[in-house]
Amino acid sequence: MDISLLRSIRAQFPILSSQIHGRELVYLDNAATTQKPLTVIESIDSYYRGCNANIHRGTYLLAAKATEMYENVRKQVQGFIGARKSEEVVFTRGTTESINLVAASFAKRFFSGNDEVICTGMEHHSNIVPWQLAGATMRVIPFNDSGVLDLDAYQDLFNKNTRIVAICHVSNTLGTVNPIAEMIAIAHQHGVPVLIDGAQAVAHTKVDVSALDCDFYCFSGHKMYGPMGVGVMYGREQLLNQIPPYQGGGEMIENVTFEHTTYNALPYKFEAGTPSVGDVVGLGKAVEFIQSIGIDTIAKHENHLLETATRGLNAIPDAKIFGTADGKAAVLSFLIGSAHPYDVGTLLDQLGIAVRTGHHCTQPVMDRYGIPGTVRASFAVYNTEEDVAAFLSALERVLPMLG
Ligand code: PLP
Repeated sequence: MDISLLRSIRAQFPILSSQIHGRELVYLDNAATTQKPLTVIESIDSYYRGCNANIHRGTYLLAAKATEMYENVRKQVQGFIGARKSEEVVFTRGTTESINLVAASFAKRFFSGNDEVICTGMEHHSNIVPWQLAGATMRVIPFNDSGVLDLDAYQDLFNKNTRIVAICHVSNTLGTVNPIAEMIAIAHQHGVPVLIDGAQAVAHTKVDVSALDCDFYCFSGHKMYGPMGVGVMYGREQLLNQIPPYQGGGEMIENVTFEHTTYNALPYKFEAGTPSVGDVVGLGKAVEFIQSIGIDTIAKHENHLLETATRGLNAIPDAKIFGTADGKAAVLSFLIGSAHPYDVGTLLDQLGIAVRTGHHCTQPVMDRYGIPGTVRASFAVYNTEEDVAAFLSALERVLPMLG
């Protein structure tokens, strides 16, 4: 990426100039959450200073203004993910709530006992447990040592009890970008709908839900430079009309009596209660931020950093990378010899490098490799070659301490 563009991007993130343990912060935990640009931070501030009112119900100007801001972001998100209608965009608290919503509502409508959900072996817990809570048996697509799914095995998992395929677009632990277009087409040949967990995808790769032809697509604002506490559940209109509401309360109703309640139209049927309006406003600014740089520019830059970091890591004796699929996203999970990932992470932190350690909410992936966890460095658009160099040299420095 052009150095002046990169500098101007970094200047938009106040936290990146902060000091950690007396050193400049090198933030490499972007798969957990990205940092927020000033436009996002300031939009939330200015919403609460000048526009705050509860939406949809007010007759006064401020409420109308807040409602307009909220609904405009829905249209923005519709464009961002290529949904056919803004009614197909439901605001939630994040990917986890989006998947819980679909699992609970879909199960109520379509589960009948002996229900199976096909997922990959690299799912985040939030795309496993909601289905288990809904009563499903998980049927798991295995992956090889590089982190590539076995699509023949996938084909063999379909049977008369298969109700839905629920798979991640990008693995948060291995970085694998799954061939979801092909997988969606296969599921549809079996007459089975598909939910995509796009938590790790939307900020790093172009997503077009209409071209993908997926039935549900879920993601979080905070992993795409937006605020925490807001996310999206995209659903195909026809399916959203078939499944019942997830939560009951204000806004999701058409008419309530003690005997019987009828529900509001899409998307309000799935948005019970007061939403996090200020965060939705911030999400709109996050979408603008990504679009202002361009997703292809972002992906190219992150891939360059990933390649540099991978080369450096491979040069360290005893370093082992987990997840080496072609075309993977900028997530680098690794171990060094028998050192515990937590020790590596703690030592790196002392040198100002923020990485994540542990199972990354993917315990089945750890079981697959027979390891307790990994160290994970993950890159975003504001990371630099200097960040990668600092990370690698910090690793060299901590190596002798790892025994
Ligand atoms: N799915 C994947 C692939 C993730 O990486 C994450 C978060 O790390 C989630 C789901 C859950 O996202 P959230 O905690 O924002 O709901």
